[in-house]
Amino acid sequence: MPVLKEEDYELPEDQTSVWITVNAISVRVFRTDEGVGVDLYPVGRESEDAIASTYALNDEGEEDEQMCDHDWKHDSYTDNGRVEWQLCKHCPKSRRLG
Ligand SMILES: [Zn+2]
Repeated sequence: MPVLKEEDYELPEDQTSVWITVNAISVRVFRTDEGVGVDLYPVGRESEDAIASTYALNDEGEEDEQMCDHDWKHDSYTDNGRVEWQLCKHCPKSRRLG
């Protein structure tokens, strides 16, 4: 089994799940069309019911864009000195200036 380093990892878009063994627990992280789930199993009993599970919808990770009418910050930043951007105070949106 490959060993993970203490880093951040991203599940590739063409993969739906990953298993990580931590002590005596097998952790399954998986994506669906609507969100992301995590199931925990005792090692060796992954085919039985999960002993713990959680789930989050994709849109729980970001603010509702319908509710945001974009209140742009006065300060802006440049992308490698070429393009100037402004960030919204309330949501992750940015806009190009100029
Ligand atoms: Zn906004």
